[in-house]
Amino acid sequence: MATSLMPYDNRDGSIWFDGKLVPWRDAKIHVLTHALHYASAVFEGERVYGGTIFKLREHSQRLIDSARILGFEIPWKLEEIEAACIATVKAQNIKDGYVRPIAWRGPEQMGVSAQATKIHMSIAVWDWGTYFAPEARLKGIRMAWAKWSRPAPNTAPTKAKASGLYMICTLSKHAAEAAGYEDALMLDWRGRIAEATGANIFLAIDGELHTPTPDCFLDGITRRHVIGLAKARQLKVIERAIMPEELAKAQEVFLTGSAAEITPVREIGDYKFTPGAITKALIEDFDRSVRGLEKVSAA
Ligand code: PMP
Repeated sequence: MATSLMPYDNRDGSIWFDGKLVPWRDAKIHVLTHALHYASAVFEGERVYGGTIFKLREHSQRLIDSARILGFEIPWKLEEIEAACIATVKAQNIKDGYVRPIAWRGPEQMGVSAQATKIHMSIAVWDWGTYFAPEARLKGIRMAWAKWSRPAPNTAPTKAKASGLYMICTLSKHAAEAAGYEDALMLDWRGRIAEATGANIFLAIDGELHTPTPDCFLDGITRRHVIGLAKARQLKVIERAIMPEELAKAQEVFLTGSAAEITPVREIGDYKFTPGAITKALIEDFDRSVRGLEKVSAA
């Protein structure tokens, strides 16, 4: 069976679980774990390129920050989390793959209050290819409009990479897939363009890059990296509120994320785009930068 079709609980290897590497199939939790019932969990998604975790410091810090936003402290320090991620990549002998740390509240209490729960953490690493089908990198993906909106910052902890926030992402992605699309574009509660179900969005309009201000969704680590790459190429990057009708002005659109990397978009509802020079140049810069290679000089 191809690895991607193997259920995630039935694989060979080791998972870092509460301080040590355990056999993959033994990394289990009880059904009365608080996180399972009340989504008291925060997680990360990181990529390994050539055996090195890209932006490990930023991801580990965000994990700690997300937990604090949810009101708990991960009982491992930043450096310990980093070392644990590196040790797991090594144990799994992964050169190019994905890292999934998660921290959650345990089963000591069952109910909305969770003050007495213990905090657990695990880190799993596996071989992984592209998030969308490989040909998406050339042609671009097709996106539907999500019927769910990103919530306002006073209705959900929008700065945290928290499990509970993904409920509307899965619903939106499933609806898009059922209609024959690859992903969905979510607006925010004000009707502005927000992000995809697991990635940020950029629009190229007349040679400049525009991206929504991340005031109610994740300011992605890849997003910030790509803004840096664009600026190094003397491209103007404008962070602002973007309304859906503005898609009519965009020549190119792409998504960014640890999983999505840079994925061109060729369709959003009735709007059509063609992956062009800006997207291609940034993909090239991105591919070189994640492997620690020198960036191509600005063309
Ligand atoms: N938004 C959502 C909802 C995501 O799940 C992700 C992936 N973590 C992103 C944006 C992009 O974040 P990053 O570049 O830090 O992976």
